Amino acid sequence: MTAIDLPSLTRFADLLGPKGFTTDPDAMAPWLKDWRGRYEGAAAALLSPADADQVAAVVRLAGALGIALVPQGGNTSMVGGATPPATGNAMILSLRRMNAIRSIAAEDGVVVAEAGVILAHLHDAVLEHGMRFPLTLGGKGSATVGGLVSTNAGGTQVLRFGTMRALTLGIEAVLPDGSRFDGLSPLKKDNRGYDLKHLLIGAEGTLGIITAASLKLVPAILDRAVGWIGVETPHQALALLRFMEARAADAQEGFEIVPADSLALVLKHIPGTRAPLQGTHPWHVLVEMVRSDARAEASGAVLEQILGDALTAGLCRDATIAASEAQAEAFWKLRDSLSEAERASGPAVQHDISVPVSGMPDFMISAARDVEARFVGTRASAFGHLGDGNVHFHVRAPEDAALDWAKTAGKAVSAYVHDLVVAAGGSISAEHGIGQMKLEENARLSDPARLMALSAIKAAFDPKGLMNPGKLVLPGGLAQESL
Ligand code: FAD
Repeated sequence: MTAIDLPSLTRFADLLGPKGFTTDPDAMAPWLKDWRGRYEGAAAALLSPADADQVAAVVRLAGALGIALVPQGGNTSMVGGATPPATGNAMILSLRRMNAIRSIAAEDGVVVAEAGVILAHLHDAVLEHGMRFPLTLGGKGSATVGGLVSTNAGGTQVLRFGTMRALTLGIEAVLPDGSRFDGLSPLKKDNRGYDLKHLLIGAEGTLGIITAASLKLVPAILDRAVGWIGVETPHQALALLRFMEARAADAQEGFEIVPADSLALVLKHIPGTRAPLQGTHPWHVLVEMVRSDARAEASGAVLEQILGDALTAGLCRDATIAASEAQAEAFWKLRDSLSEAERASGPAVQHDISVPVSGMPDFMISAARDVEARFVGTRASAFGHLGDGNVHFHVRAPEDAALDWAKTAGKAVSAYVHDLVVAAGGSISAEHGIGQMKLEENARLSDPARLMALSAIKAAFDPKGLMNPGKLVLPGGLAQESL
């Protein structure tokens, strides 16, 4: 990577024109920090190509000049994945201008969307055709198709439909040498060896730039029912999930677990929230059932029947079903406000982890107990996608801790949590990716074969190391040293 001089900047400006090129500090400022405000970088310019031809031209020029590119969509990465390095020797390559939906084929269940299409806009566009894209997450108002593919994003519907890997039928991309990969065709069967599409999914912009994707659609829902349930333990919650799946797997979508102390923080810090159930319960579960087939029974009736049976079977302590769409939204707000409420209550160190589903209830209890014993005064709580074996495991600071506790103690806390995760056969990144936040931990905890493969793939695609350097794969290959 080289320092970026004025003649080089001028060549990018000439290539992209005034709409596609800026060095204005005010225009660039929002894109130099990550969503959580943990990382701040610098960039010589913000590039916003209008189409895939311009992306290819930018990548070729950057390659010739030895300039690093940081691909960026909505900048909602939870791991600093889209934040440029602090050196200033890189340019941000924003895909946000490429926001066209090229086609919607409802009969085939396929939408072709450019990388910059925002998830919420995609939802709205396909709904007009009686379809839905079955992936959603808290950042849907900003997160883009390119970012979702590049992080193999998950969210709250993975239980039924899988992550982006399951929903991405084809990809169009520009590779680090500027060549174009046209893999948009949504082939059901394709056995030509290594699957470039799957290499690019979850690559976090380190192997090339996604310019468009073909995505799977399913019929729009006719109705939904959202329930709030009190349970004794995570074990009981998992048993309840299996009970519900056995009766209505096709209708079961959301299944989110929330501990009592996290719910209490929401009720305390988020205005307008109230507990759905009377009485206290150690754990809570939010469930969502949907109906998309007119011949099927309404989802409210299905959920009512199942929860009644679950109560009789002793699989939960209490349950209620939202009586209106507004109440359903209010239930989801409790779930979606967990992180915000936690932030309002003081410093915390967050982890996005997974273990095998059947082992998750034990892990949630034992890991929290171990962490609280090791770091005296902390409170550990796990919430989220129990049915995917994925929870957000957050460790809150002791009450008298300094405001920068997460910075000073975070490394030791995370190392301890990650060691527990690995011992349980899990992953230190379930859905947010590695980015820069988990770079060293991923290198520390991955086995040599995995690290060797990561480094070798990166070197083969991007020998100059210009694609999102400092993310996912350690520069210089600590991977190599550990072999
Ligand atoms: P960015 O943040 O801009 O980029 C993410 C990564 O992808 C970076 O490495 C970037 O370099 C790369 N990239 C972006 N666009 C391209 C492209 N076109 N080509 C190549 N590389 C590219 N994630 C989940 O999985 N599940 C959740 O439930 C979830 N909830 C969230 C809730 C909130 C409130 C927020 C803020 C975030 C949440 N996230 C969640 C994380 C985030 O929304 C996802 O990682 C999302 O996929 C990022 O999309 P983006 O467009 O913002 O990408």
